[in-house]
Amino acid sequence: MTGSEAHALLVKAKDYVDEHYNYGSIFLDTEDEYGDSMSVYRGHTVPPERGDIPKFHVRCSDFYDRWNDRVDDVTVAASIVTLFHEAVGHGFQLRSAYMRQDDPLCSVLAMNFCACQASGRYYGDYDPSDYGIDCDKWPYFSQCHEMAAQYLGLKFARDYMHGSGMFPFDVERVLCEYEDVRLPDSDFITVSDGFHFGNVDQILEQFELQFPGVVRGKHEYQFSRRELFDEKVSVKGPIDLLENAFSKDGSDCRSKRLSNCRDGMKQDQMAASVFVDRYPQNKFPALSGVELRPDKAFGYISDPMKPMPPDSVLKLSYLVELMDDDRNDAGPDLDGPE
Ligand SMILES: [Zn+2]
Repeated sequence: MTGSEAHALLVKAKDYVDEHYNYGSIFLDTEDEYGDSMSVYRGHTVPPERGDIPKFHVRCSDFYDRWNDRVDDVTVAASIVTLFHEAVGHGFQLRSAYMRQDDPLCSVLAMNFCACQASGRYYGDYDPSDYGIDCDKWPYFSQCHEMAAQYLGLKFARDYMHGSGMFPFDVERVLCEYEDVRLPDSDFITVSDGFHFGNVDQILEQFELQFPGVVRGKHEYQFSRRELFDEKVSVKGPIDLLENAFSKDGSDCRSKRLSNCRDGMKQDQMAASVFVDRYPQNKFPALSGVELRPDKAFGYISDPMKPMPPDSVLKLSYLVELMDDDRNDAGPDLDGPE
């Protein structure tokens, strides 16, 4: 199909998400806030300020650039996954999961989200080699709240594409190709060389199996003084709270503690404590059982949560159950009469 046809399908999907999920405002545009064109393979969610709602961006330069020319099926499918990743995956987390108290999985996700808000460098939403960081995997792919958003994005995009009947290709095959395209880049899940997925359920199953490892796995974080920062990060990136915190006298040991720690949840606790300390109004209800006082978080003996969640509660499919609960709690009128 052409770029304009692909764009029309994305607009329909956006209308569907607005109607059925409605976690915030969705924008389909061509360039990001800095004027850079952006591919449908990458979206962006702006978290809400207090009392506000989130904003979800899917930037479709791939379609505008090829308005009357053919775009490949994988790019079309990718745009739908990106839409659902942002507006459903992140939307559900921000508006529902992080608002739940006494739910260990929601606490784990909210803590990782806040840790990423503390530092673009910790979040790792850029190519680490540009910044002299040598690692196999982008730090981004070690962020469990992103993995959860991608799981929900892939699952609900697949369901929507099947249900709508508007996509003139084999949805399962194309989504597996999309996942294969992403894999060489390194991704949330690792598979053996030459392995290809046969259907989306197999991908979701691997997400589920590998999720606890991502929650607990080490985040590659290397503190860098501001003068070492590329202009792109220091000027365009979000304010780096970790950088500011660690630049103060006597904080060097904290930056080393964070980069050397091998326990991903403990690293999240440290980074999130810096964010919540600076923005206490952004302490989500899901963080009420999490130890986020910086002096405790950076201490050696303090676990982030008591008790620490076992692998058995780190289940991505459980988030789908929570979404179903949300719908039922909203009452029988949500989807109209049966
Ligand atoms: Zn995301």
